[in-house]
Amino acid sequence: MRTLISESEVREGVQRLASEITATYGDGPLTIVGVLTGSVVLLADMIRLLTMPLRVGVVQASSYRGATSRGPLVINSDLMPDIAQHDVVIVDDIFDTGNTLAELIELMQKLGPTSVRTAVLLRKTGQQEVAIKPDFVAFEIPNEFVVGYGLDYRDEYRNLPYVGALDPEDLRS
Ligand code: 5GP
Ligand code: MG
Repeated sequence: MRTLISESEVREGVQRLASEITATYGDGPLTIVGVLTGSVVLLADMIRLLTMPLRVGVVQASSYRGATSRGPLVINSDLMPDIAQHDVVIVDDIFDTGNTLAELIELMQKLGPTSVRTAVLLRKTGQQEVAIKPDFVAFEIPNEFVVGYGLDYRDEYRNLPYVGALDPEDLRS
């Protein structure tokens, strides 16, 4: 495992995200919707840096069928708060192809929010397959499989306090 982004760098990145969100929404109010499961660590750290009136909810989206190979995207919005006439920021761990956030934005737009923006810890350079871009990004990373700070490989490593890269020979798909 190679460290890609250290614990202190992650902390600075999360502070940048919170500052940008604060600059955009001022005194709020704001609704944050975290994408399960990868966003939980970022969600917990980031919301504590935000001081406007805040509601927090979650939505589940998963596209991984094998450990690193992609299946169809499945969204479960049963736990999502009412977002009609609210400013919403969707929070996810990583923007890769962008399909997950693009579909979530489309789903949420139908529910009548005032606005929908997206915040991610990581964006993989050159992988984007959709027209949308995340509004708030802490780090650009190369196209490697990363784990830690919420990101898993076979449901492990989510608890690492830093972001590490796994080498292709360590991955079974
Ligand atoms: P997208 O729909 O943007 O292609 O993929 C977003 C989702 O794929 C993320 O929420 C995350 O669950 C997963 N993902 C994409 N790249 C990686 C990676 O390098 N490591 C891990 N653990 N998950 C990833
Ligand atoms: Mg995810």
